[in-house]
Parts: sequence; C-alpha cells; structure tokens
Amino acid sequence: MPLHVRILIGMVLGVIAGAIAVSLDASWLIVDWVKPFGTIFINLLKVIAVPLIIASLVKGVSDMRDLSRLSSLGGRTVALYLFTTVVSVSLGLLVVNLVNPGLAIDEATRTKLLESSADDAAGKIAIAEQTKEQGPLQPIIDLVPDNIFAAATNNTAMLQVIVFVLLFGVALVMTPEEKSGPVKAFFDGLNEVVMRLIDLIMLAAPIGVFALLAALVAETPSWDVFKALLYYSLCVMFGLMILVFGFYPTLARVFAGVKYGHFFRSLAPAQLLAFSTSSSAATLPVTMECTQEHLGVDEEVASFVLPIGATVNMDGTSLYQAVAAVFIAQAFGIDLTLGDQLSIVLTATLASIGTAAVPSAGIVMLVIVLGTLDVPEQGIALIFAVDRVLDMSRTVANVTSDATVATLVAKSVGLLHERPEERRLESPSQE
Ligand code: ASP
Repeated sequence: MPLHVRILIGMVLGVIAGAIAVSLDASWLIVDWVKPFGTIFINLLKVIAVPLIIASLVKGVSDMRDLSRLSSLGGRTVALYLFTTVVSVSLGLLVVNLVNPGLAIDEATRTKLLESSADDAAGKIAIAEQTKEQGPLQPIIDLVPDNIFAAATNNTAMLQVIVFVLLFGVALVMTPEEKSGPVKAFFDGLNEVVMRLIDLIMLAAPIGVFALLAALVAETPSWDVFKALLYYSLCVMFGLMILVFGFYPTLARVFAGVKYGHFFRSLAPAQLLAFSTSSSAATLPVTMECTQEHLGVDEEVASFVLPIGATVNMDGTSLYQAVAAVFIAQAFGIDLTLGDQLSIVLTATLASIGTAAVPSAGIVMLVIVLGTLDVPEQGIALIFAVDRVLDMSRTVANVTSDATVATLVAKSVGLLHERPEERRLESPSQE
C-alpha cells in the first residue's frame, strides 16, 4: 500500500477516534494516551531537520562545480520564491476584498471572540513585541549567528544556520580538492544516513498522524466559534486551495511538463504530513525525498533549494496574513486604503520570510503586519480559535510551493530527470 494511502488512513481513523472520544466525553483519554505518540513523531521529524539542513546544504553547495553555478541557482531560487509569495499575498487580498468576511462580525461577536482568546493573544503579542522593539537593521543582524551551535538548537533561528552553512559550502568549494575531499565525503555520507533515518521514521507515520489528528479533534473548540469565523476561514481555505490545486500544478505543468496527477501522487506524503504536523521544518525530510525520488528533481538542486524554501518561502502563510489583516481591520470597522493594501503586500511578504517553520509561527508575525496598519494587535484574538486548522492548511501550501520551485529550478538548468531511478519511498503508481 503506498505511503500516502497509509497516512491518509491514519488521518481518517484519527479523526474518527477523536470524534468518538468527544461524543463519549472522554477527550482526556486521547489527550493523555494518544496525543503523546503524535508528539513523539513530530519530535523525531524535527530532530533530523537540523542535521538534514546542514548535510544537504553543504553537499548541495559543494557539489556545484564553481561559484557561478551557485549564483545562477541562487538567483533563480530567490526570484521564484519571491514571485510565488507576492502572487499569494495578492491572491489573498483579492479574495478577502471580494468576500469582506469581517463585515459579518457584529459588536457582540467581536467582544466574545476577543475575550475568549485574550490570554493566548497576549502571549503571541509579547513574543512579537520583542521583534518590534529592535532597530531597523536588526533583521539583517539576525541573519548572522554568533554561535552556530546555539543557532542550531533554536527552531526559530534556522535562517542563521542556513547563512552559516552557505558560507561554509562556498569556502569548501574554494578549498583545494585534496583537503576538502574528506570533508565533502563526510557530509555526503551524513546526507545518505539521514535519508535512511527518514525512511525509518516514516514507518511510524500512519500512527503519528493518527495520534495528531485524534488529538486535534479531541481538543477542538465548540462549533459556535467556527460559525462566527466561517467566512474568514473559507476565504483563507479558498485562497490556499487555488494555490495548491491550481497555481502550483499549473506552473509545474507549463514550465516543467509535470502532469497534474503525477504532481499530486508524488507530493502526497509531504502534503499530508505538512497538514498533520503544521511544520514545514518537520516536513522537510519528506519533501526532499518526494521531490527527488518522485518528481525527479536532481539532488544538487533539491538539497539546495528545499532547505532554504522550508525556512523562507511561506506562500500559504503570506496569503493567510493578508486575509487575516484585512479581516481584523474590517471587524474593527477600520477602512483600509489602497496604500494600506499595498503595504500589506510588502509587510506580509517580509513577515512570511521571517516566519519560523514551526506551528503557529504565522500568527506571531501577523502582529507585525497589523502594527504597520494601525489595526489593534489584540485583534489576533479574533481569529485564534480557528488558527490551528488554518495553520495546518497553510503549511501544505508552504511545502507544495517549495517543491514546485525546486522542480522549476531543476528544469531550467536541465536537472529534472524524466524517470527518477532510485526510489526509496513507495513510488507513485503509473498514470
Ligand atoms: N506552520 C507554518 C509552517 O511551518 C508557519 C505558519 O505558522 O504559518 O510552514
């Protein structure tokens, strides 16, 4: 049975188990005895994310014949990542301005929502405040780690690890072969070992997602809150669906000749995992396998483009930030001018780059987007109740975008293989 089918079965059974527990008033059973297995599974994925980013990026950069190759790949990667992000924010703005979901929120609902999540919101705002208090060049300072081990142990400092590893890779390319050879061989071997580790961990994926989804259902807030936020949630979901089912497969079809069905069969394990874990970083190992072994992206491209993408390219997050910012403004009766909307394109793009690839990081950066618009930051309390599900969904778009860009970059430099030879995860069935 293909892996994605097993994962899907795990998810469906998880939802059923969660629903049964809720109906029997026994949610605690799931929280105490099932959820921990989901946490273990996410931890396993996360624990290999850092070694994987390091090993694959060092290998990716040092495999390049010369530095001009690096700059050509790097240029294409950055341009495509920016392009897809700006398209996503614009799509989000279009949808939210057409539907105007915030106008459906009356005074009483607003007060109720604000009160119900005030504490959660205050926690996130406090985290965001730390970022805002810094000087204008702080984001650039933050790119450069002062201690690589500290950076590698901090989930939100992945960008620092990437910057250091890129520098390390460049230095390795400049080092004479007789000295750099053993270092390259080490990272090459490490990369292979990590790939095998992923295969091992993925054996537990169906159980892991079962536990995660059962816990999600058991801990879900009441339907009332969902009803109030229905239009808002639908706007975000609709935008994400256009991206995942329309925009990305079309890009892959038109520019890389990847058939629609093959695109989804190839990426299904990564997409399902992104949905279950809400973390691009935790999904990265599987995104790499799917992209290389099913879509046929050469390792040289995948090991360079994907770790960077998992950290900086968050289309789903940027779309969500645009929709949420306008929704909150509308719910407070604040009119946003065209200039405000344009500033959302800029701030949501930057905020999504700065968003860490971990669950609910997007809502922290949303505080910063709201700040530039003079919309009350407490407004994030309005959308808290449904954020979990939207987080899961936007992570799917984030991951799909990374894989799409990797495919396009590979095609543009002649490194997209028609028939991926080596397949470790179960291969998708033929069309
Ligand atoms: N959970 C998302 C991710 O890891 C980030 C977000 O919160 O939007 O891709």
